Amino acid sequence: MNTEQLNEITGRVFNIQFFCVHDGTGIRTTVFLKGCPLRCLWCHNPEGISKDVHLSFSENKCLRCGACAAVCAAHKMTDGRHTVERSECTLKGDCVKVCPTEALSIVGRDITVGEVVGEILRDKKFYADSGGGATFSGGEPAMQPEFLFALVKATKAEGINVAVETSGCAPYRVYESLLPYVDTFLFDCKETNPELHKKFTGVDNKLLTDNLRKLHDAGASILLRCPIVPGLNDRDEHFQGLAKLSKELPNLIGVELLAYHKLAASKSGRMGLAVQDEYEPPSPEVKAEWNAKLEAYGANVFDA
Ligand code: SF4
Ligand code: SF4
Repeated sequence: MNTEQLNEITGRVFNIQFFCVHDGTGIRTTVFLKGCPLRCLWCHNPEGISKDVHLSFSENKCLRCGACAAVCAAHKMTDGRHTVERSECTLKGDCVKVCPTEALSIVGRDITVGEVVGEILRDKKFYADSGGGATFSGGEPAMQPEFLFALVKATKAEGINVAVETSGCAPYRVYESLLPYVDTFLFDCKETNPELHKKFTGVDNKLLTDNLRKLHDAGASILLRCPIVPGLNDRDEHFQGLAKLSKELPNLIGVELLAYHKLAASKSGRMGLAVQDEYEPPSPEVKAEWNAKLEAYGANVFDA
């Protein structure tokens, strides 16, 4: 496939975020692809789970001016209160255009590879100065394998450092095809106990762990990223499991613990999705204790 053909491939994203500093080295542009086969109880990107497009409504930004209700019957103004009847929403976005406060937005859009790469190139200078680049995340980006492949190939062809953040939940051939173009895989490990992995994420962890081992053995540069949620996987047994993996996979960049945060619940509510349970975010001291424990068990801890 030549560059022109690659650039014409279309996929669905829900965000392109600039100046990210937590998605790999340096300053990065992170492209979030829609769709995910997992259902993590704590999902931090609920807008990325479904491949569907959503209308997001932030009630706290709403002035109750009625402009949206004047252009679309899905918006109801009753007794000074604004509600959205989602079954009547066509997702055409007429309401978004007339809202004076950006209380409304459409989450999810179809975009070509050429357009995404154009966005990424806007900050090329910052990548060079900071050792950054582009990160493809989600959702699970490997859920759109042709689009992801074209994105990493076209981005790499521009001389930009490429990272892919993945849960590992896709056929290995998808990852194998990406290998020549990806500088770093940010590979999630959400739970090392198989039964609990299924309980916390809805999927078996065998395929994910097999993919991790195969990628490691194929020479990929991998940072293992592990969300830790108090009350779920902040257990010694899990930290020991991560240390065991770290020792079995000596070429990992390291094991990075990511502390749970609460931002997701408000996002779900804005899109009319089921709101997840909330957990108590850990203090910096607790996170430091987790890292110390992991290190004591013999893991190669990565603490950015
Ligand atoms: S147009 Fe915006 S600010 Fe006005 S009622 Fe609708 S959501 Fe609220
Ligand atoms: S893998 Fe990520 S996007 Fe998918 S459900 Fe889990 S946290 Fe959410």
